[in-house]
Amino acid sequence: MAFSSLTDRLSNAFKNLRSKGKLTNADIDGTIREIRRALLDADVALEVVRSFTARIRERALGEEVSEALNPAQQVVKIVNDELTEILGAGVDRPLNFAKNPPTVIMLAGLQGAGKTTLAGKLGHWLKEAGHTPMLVAADLQRPNAVTQLQVVGERAGVPVYAPEKGVQSDGGDQVALPGETSGDPVAVARQSIEVARQKLYDTVIIDTAGRLGVDETLMQQARDIRDAVNPQEILFVIDAMIGQDAVRTAQAFDEGVDFTGVVLSKLDGDARGGAALSVASVTGKPIMFSSTGEGLEDFEVFHPDRMASRILDMGDILTLIEQAQKQFDEEQAREAAAKLAEGEFGLDDFLDQLQQVRKLGPMKNLLGMIPGMAQHRKELEMFDEREVDRTEAIIRSMTPAERRNPKIIDGSRRARIAYGSGTTVSAVNALLQRFEQAAKMMKRLSNGSRSMPGMGGFG
Ligand code: GDP
Repeated sequence: MAFSSLTDRLSNAFKNLRSKGKLTNADIDGTIREIRRALLDADVALEVVRSFTARIRERALGEEVSEALNPAQQVVKIVNDELTEILGAGVDRPLNFAKNPPTVIMLAGLQGAGKTTLAGKLGHWLKEAGHTPMLVAADLQRPNAVTQLQVVGERAGVPVYAPEKGVQSDGGDQVALPGETSGDPVAVARQSIEVARQKLYDTVIIDTAGRLGVDETLMQQARDIRDAVNPQEILFVIDAMIGQDAVRTAQAFDEGVDFTGVVLSKLDGDARGGAALSVASVTGKPIMFSSTGEGLEDFEVFHPDRMASRILDMGDILTLIEQAQKQFDEEQAREAAAKLAEGEFGLDDFLDQLQQVRKLGPMKNLLGMIPGMAQHRKELEMFDEREVDRTEAIIRSMTPAERRNPKIIDGSRRARIAYGSGTTVSAVNALLQRFEQAAKMMKRLSNGSRSMPGMGGFG
């Protein structure tokens, strides 16, 4: 994950504060110096670092901290607020849709930034939200760009309008393009809007050509496409791994096409990623989405506050909950909660829950969103997904009666289960023991104990 070293550095900077009851100016200055160094090392643009640390110093030296019950925590809160600010709080907003469809979304950015990949993700996301998107191949520069978009569209189940061979492909539904438009991205883009209107696609996502560096011909072409189709959104896609060049590139595209929003791509990379953090505050444009991998689902709506708390290792519980809501069967979850409260939660229920959670993606990613987990990154890296497979196998080797009432599982049953699941008796024992402990804890909690186990994070 990008920002992981930034997270480590910031959390170290706070660690020194945490042990202190009252903070002196020297404590605050020391912390700010460390924050400043951490941000610069993460490639955050100098001007952004300067104003960021100035704001933090001003607030940290004020009453807000001196009168706080927990001054160290207050400093973390200030850093969180200000980080949220530079990530674009205040300018963040949802995607703009046209009153009269189709809504036109144009993608711009350097070659390799992730535009084509994003077109598929965005199309998939819109489709899931009930829209009828269409992708348009207006990158006619790169030899394989059209085919690549077609592959992406197919994977996303979204039709692609392309000049290649003069057809639009969406599984048998083909529209011939007039001969003169092939090869001319502006004409292709213009034509695609007509097709969308006729065929009732409500969103058109236009993939445009990028170059390795910013150049005027490229920018002019992007402007020509923009002027031909009047997009509701021009999304500037930027590779979070490109380092200090990010700011310059963003400024060039801002002047060149006056984009309306930013998409950070490749946030899954382990590069420093900080340059991407500067883009919102340098251009004043909102970051609308982030891309975290090559798969269609590796895509999120960007929320400055959530990203800030993720960077500060305060977890990103909201995103976790949203992902869970998408996947979870609410009725089943309610039943499980009721059973927990009644102390009737069995291993079969546990298996159901486990399978629901696994639908959310690799456990490692999920665990990473929990507050305080960044400190345990090493353990997370070592997390063995197969451990979960083994747990499933063990439960599956039990009879329904055993799952409902694990107490009946005696020595010979344990041996049978171990054999059936290809594990060992001690693995079965360990699972049963963990389950029993969890059941006990749940019972205590539902009996009204107020002493929740402490969450990680700062404090
Ligand atoms: P374009 O030239 O802007 O259209 O960029 P592409 O969409 O072709 O992406 C360039 C490369 O980056 C491809 O190999 C993609 O698979 C990869 N890529 C795109 N987005 C992401 C991302 O979020 N994470 C990772 N790891 N790779 C990505």
